[in-house]
Amino acid sequence: MEQPVIYLDNNATTRVAPEVLEAMLPYFCERYGNPSSIHTFGGSVADDIEQARCRVADLLGASFRDRDGIASEIIFTSCGTEGDNAAINAAFNARPGRNKLVTTAVEHPAVLAYAKELERLGREVVLVPVDGRGRLDMDFLKAAVDENTAVVSAMWANNETGTVFPVGEIAKIAHAAGALFHTDAVQAAGKVPVDVEALEIDFLSISGHKLHAPKGVGALYVRRGVRFSRLLFGGHQEKGRRGGTENVTSVIGLGKACEMALASLEKDAARLAELRGRLEEKITSAIPGTHVNGDLENRLPNTSSISFDGIEGESILMMLNMYGICASSGSACTTGSLEPSHVMRAMGIPYTSAHGTVRFSLSCYNTAEEIDKVAEVLPPIIARLRSISPFWEENK
Ligand code: PLP
Repeated sequence: MEQPVIYLDNNATTRVAPEVLEAMLPYFCERYGNPSSIHTFGGSVADDIEQARCRVADLLGASFRDRDGIASEIIFTSCGTEGDNAAINAAFNARPGRNKLVTTAVEHPAVLAYAKELERLGREVVLVPVDGRGRLDMDFLKAAVDENTAVVSAMWANNETGTVFPVGEIAKIAHAAGALFHTDAVQAAGKVPVDVEALEIDFLSISGHKLHAPKGVGALYVRRGVRFSRLLFGGHQEKGRRGGTENVTSVIGLGKACEMALASLEKDAARLAELRGRLEEKITSAIPGTHVNGDLENRLPNTSSISFDGIEGESILMMLNMYGICASSGSACTTGSLEPSHVMRAMGIPYTSAHGTVRFSLSCYNTAEEIDKVAEVLPPIIARLRSISPFWEENK
């Protein structure tokens, strides 16, 4: 009999909710019209896209509707990466004469790799450091943002540690210098309340597959009045802001997922925080030499980054995998050697524990029984790996 999978890798991707799939299905073979068509068969699909757009806007606190009732601050994209790239690109175009991007050392590559490319093209890029708990150095940030800054981009919540940044405060600093503010809310949306209006955010990107919608769809919020320049030239879709026939099925799915996330946000957050607490308590009390990473007072409720001294995260993951347990590590495989991730390095986590970092990320589908199973199998796994590790204290 196949063993059941215990899926604790929800920051990597999530299961499509059955309700989301159900909402999408008619758009494959029955309502497959092109939303740009003149006929009603296609045109009615366009109406459904607008309903999905409103649902996304509702999750983000974007209350503006144009005179046709359209939540025109939302642009559908292909993924979180596209939203991040498009926002930063548009911000530079909206602030001609300014050449600087201020971002953080712990952003996802969707921002950091693009920043590197912009630097190659002659832009100035400043990376704001974090402390050992993953909190931003706000004094550094304040000093870095000036009259040459076009855009400040800071993630709402970190994908590895779950640490939440003070995005409202950062937006204020950006605006005081006349710069625009973008936040990558790919991990935050659907897990913590997001209110673009209260926090005066100019650009915000999300990704469907992190909140129980399919992969390959996302959305970018662009505040009304902020000039947006397109990344994709083509047809007049998305009010001329993104060429390309809409990914209708996935857009419908994203709308449904946002509606569901908004309806259960508080309940899910409380339950996830409880399950996460259960996991951390059981692990840290049973296994010596473990550390929970990130800002423990200000974290996503579903994310737990735990370092196990003296061993490698990848070995832990492989052994967990034998029990059907899916998690991920805080390492990135660079040129064959397993280097701690840029997030762990930016936090200054000591090498011997950064190496043994495992990220558990939960979703509403996880149960207390699953958590208990992980807590049961982990201590012997760690003990076994440490018994053969030259980096574990007692073996040195
Ligand atoms: N930003 C963050 C914080 C992420 O965690 C991810 C995905 O892991 C992305 C951006 C990229 O999203 P996508 O896979 O939809 O391009």
